[in-house]
Amino acid sequence: MLPILYFGTEDQKQHFLPKLCSGEWKASYCLTEPSSGSDALSAKTRADLTEDGKHYLLSGQKMWITNAGFADLMIVFAQVGGTQFTGLLVEAKSPGITLGAEEKKMGIKGSSTRQVFFDKVAVPVDNVLGEIGKGHLIAFNALNIGRFKLGNMAMGGAKKAASISIQYANERIQFKQPISSFGAIQFKLAQQAIEVFTLESAVYRVSNLLLQQKEQLIEQGESLEHALLKAAEEYAIECAAIKVAGSEYLDYVVDEAVQIHGGYGFSEEYTPAMAYRDQRINRIYEGTNEINRMLMINMLLKRATTGAIDMVGPAWEVQKELTKMPGMQKPEGKFGYEDKSLADYKKLALMVLGAAVKMQMDGQLNLKEEQEILMNGADLLVDIYMAESLLLRLKKLESTGKYRLPEVYDAILSVSFHDLNARMAKTATDALCSFASGDLLKTFLLGVKRFTAYPPTNIKEKRRIIAAHLIEENEYTL
Ligand SMILES: Cc1cc2nc3c(=O)[nH]c(=O)nc-3n(C[C@H](O)[C@H](O)[C@H](O)COP(=O)(O)OP(=O)(O)OC[C@H]3O[C@@H](n4cnc5c(N)ncnc54)[C@H](O)[C@@H]3O)c2cc1C
Repeated sequence: MLPILYFGTEDQKQHFLPKLCSGEWKASYCLTEPSSGSDALSAKTRADLTEDGKHYLLSGQKMWITNAGFADLMIVFAQVGGTQFTGLLVEAKSPGITLGAEEKKMGIKGSSTRQVFFDKVAVPVDNVLGEIGKGHLIAFNALNIGRFKLGNMAMGGAKKAASISIQYANERIQFKQPISSFGAIQFKLAQQAIEVFTLESAVYRVSNLLLQQKEQLIEQGESLEHALLKAAEEYAIECAAIKVAGSEYLDYVVDEAVQIHGGYGFSEEYTPAMAYRDQRINRIYEGTNEINRMLMINMLLKRATTGAIDMVGPAWEVQKELTKMPGMQKPEGKFGYEDKSLADYKKLALMVLGAAVKMQMDGQLNLKEEQEILMNGADLLVDIYMAESLLLRLKKLESTGKYRLPEVYDAILSVSFHDLNARMAKTATDALCSFASGDLLKTFLLGVKRFTAYPPTNIKEKRRIIAAHLIEENEYTL
């Protein structure tokens, strides 16, 4: 529905959207082909204008198409005239369309996933979606919101898997006691809850940003569809971060759900096995997590080079700061250490990315050829965004008198920042060692030490506090 809402003509919207909204019709989105997945624009499916100029003849093959088995409408991307990547609205009953067999998938077996073959399918010229040769705008913009939605679904799945884990850990008796009484299991329950709570914080944060941006654009006179489209474009980096973090947090949560269930976790008669298989696809579709990581950094660098954001200036300031003596005082306020650390983590990311960009500008580095560094950069961004979302949520709960589980919330924050501190140091060091050397590297590594100084805390006890609450509630209720 979204590609039609965003890019359709008024006639196309009137014709297709009511039936799709009511559920009378189902749609599928046909972008991927056997030889073009991540490299979607290299699609070979082509559409050629007929001599009378009334139709395009569509021929080619699409792969992994969700809903293919029962879709009434297909949004198909094809090269018009062999070179112009374009979106087409194709009715599934059109002569010349055939389907492959249902794919035998590892998970999400309730969804229909099939190949779709097009053999000279006549598509009326009025069914071109958007402009000829501008299909990439449709394909990529639809993915922005898709990524955000994927993060939401991951959050729901993770909550459910966390609750199932708590309930099972309370029920299962070994060595004459529930396994939830063991520290090793409490660690897992607490960690699952931290990841769900953090993901939820980021998902609600991005929903709010999208909503505010949409409303602001409507106030400025934009139509609803343009406002939705532009809001998703503005927050494309955040949508990608939610997709990456959501799918990887869910990964952890369901993996530990299997482990907590022991042998029963490996049985198809218990839910964790299905959850484990079903969640795996999330790191692959809506752009693989590798592609999303690269996208995030590329979008950020693009905004930096077009002047939309200033990265080199702050990065330079951070480098100057490194030459001063550190003034380590106890920061003020309930969230003082977290505020200070978050500011430091941002400086660290700026130091790493700023240095890499500077070396690229000096011709000493070609980041396109150094994906490992791009991945490190994206990890820094995702980690900072997730931690900041968690902190903002807890601050908001506190300032509005809704900090209802003080000990548990404090513990979640401490454990998160403790772990984050170590991850930031490792990721930044990995990146810096990959492109700097000698005295420059030594200075940068001092910076890593300076900017990852979150005070050590007894995380074992803190995880136990979180676990005790979950065990008492017998489900995820944070
Ligand atoms: C169940 C399911 C449902 C799907 N539904 C749909 C659908 O409805 N419509 C649709 O159009 N598609 C759909 N897809 C396709 C999905 O979007 C693609 O599988 C996905 O984009 C990855 O493409 P690929 O499988 O060709 O992998 P590839 O692109 O071949 O990637 C293989 C590996 O290489 C990595 N890689 C690729 N390029 C690079 C690069 N430049 N740098 C670094 N690493 C790289 C990837 O990250 C990945 O790890 C679905 C897939 C599945 C499995």
